Amino acid sequence: MPLYDFQCAVCAKVAEYSASMSETELQCALCGHVMKRLITTHFTVIPDMAPYYDRIIGHRWVKGRKDRKELLRSKEMTLD
Ligand SMILES: [Zn+2]
Repeated sequence: MPLYDFQCAVCAKVAEYSASMSETELQCALCGHVMKRLITTHFTVIPDMAPYYDRIIGHRWVKGRKDRKELLRSKEMTLD
């Protein structure tokens, strides 16, 4: 189950719990009141790929994701 942040409406305690998508409220462990699930966004940053020497298509160094895309496009090997 995914992790969500919950905040108590009374004591403002914030805690992370694993909960199902439908669980939007829990009981506060501190004061016993209702904790509401916080809306949070977790970004996943995908690092650029490491440079590599392309021996198959370009026979040159590919400096990163964008460069590889340009190489594939120049060889008409991509659809986007
Ligand atoms: Zn509380």
